[in-house]
Amino acid sequence: MSGDLDRHRATSCAPTVNIAKIDFMNTDTGTCPCGSSKVYADCCGRYIEGNEAAPSAEALMRSRYTAYTLLREDYLLATWHSATRPERLDLADELPCKWLGLQVKRHEQQDAEHALVEFVARYKVGGRAQRMHEVSRFVRADGCWYYMDGDQLG
Ligand SMILES: [Zn+2]
Repeated sequence: MSGDLDRHRATSCAPTVNIAKIDFMNTDTGTCPCGSSKVYADCCGRYIEGNEAAPSAEALMRSRYTAYTLLREDYLLATWHSATRPERLDLADELPCKWLGLQVKRHEQQDAEHALVEFVARYKVGGRAQRMHEVSRFVRADGCWYYMDGDQLG
């Protein structure tokens, strides 16, 4: 069942939920939330708005971080491998979280279908600065990269 879903999605790698486009710019710098020097529409917006598949695990990782900052649950679920994908995320119900930045430390392509991305994401919840350090596993299927799972580092 879920395999069929993935094959269906692979035709565009785009979320099936149609949400009004967000005209987003990082208010501090005018650039994409993922920390690249590009504007959103030329960076993660290309994948999140559904026009293109992320060409690498790192690009997908960056776009997923950006999707978290934009509460784009549709995109996060669509890029989550069916083997580990939760039913829903309910991001809007969680404590307000201010994402402060992403640092990609390592991108390791293991073979054509597997890659690791190590990153540090910083954010604030309830006024307290937090740090998430993770090595994420990504899998490529039918030409699209998907997030599989990850290991939190200290
Ligand atoms: Zn970006």
